Amino acid sequence: MSLKIIAAECTACGACEFECPNAAISMKGDAYQIKASSCTECDGDPPKCIAVCPVDGCIVHG
Ligand code: SF4
Ligand code: SF4
Repeated sequence: MSLKIIAAECTACGACEFECPNAAISMKGDAYQIKASSCTECDGDPPKCIAVCPVDGCIVHG
């Protein structure tokens, strides 16, 4: 299970990168992306990346 970032929605603000407890988020080209094999969906807690992302609908369930 992992979340994914909709590249077209991502403003590359970087807010999510250091909130991820698994270092699953990194810059890729013009947007950030989530490495699916590293994302645990925050182990059932509210996803930290979604909590800090200023763009609604930018980070979604893959
Ligand atoms: S849901 Fe959690 S583990 Fe997955 S990318 Fe977001 S912050 Fe990282
Ligand atoms: S917080 Fe949202 S808009 Fe900002 S870099 Fe992460 S995914 Fe993109």
